[in-house]
Amino acid sequence: MSGKNNSNDGCATCLGGIIAIGFAVYLISNHPVWATIIGVLLVIGFVGKALQPTRCQVCGNPLKRNIYQWNINGKQKVLCAHCNQQMERNNSRDAMKNL
Ligand SMILES: [Zn+2]
Repeated sequence: MSGKNNSNDGCATCLGGIIAIGFAVYLISNHPVWATIIGVLLVIGFVGKALQPTRCQVCGNPLKRNIYQWNINGKQKVLCAHCNQQMERNNSRDAMKNL
């Protein structure tokens, strides 16, 4: 009795995962120092990503690919495209007032 295994269509992602796991196991058993260094670097990368705001700090909408940084009342804020547009409009309106 053997499991049916005809998923022979070259799953590159699966293969990559298997190679990565195999490499990790090899590294941990043969080069624990390197494994630790790589592990720490991966964790730092993860934390760095997690610390990045994922939501607009004005309207709370989830941020897409484009993020905009504004200095509002002396604080650095991350805005979505919509709020960025609004800020630009406000700024140009203020500039018009000062003409
Ligand atoms: Zn927004």
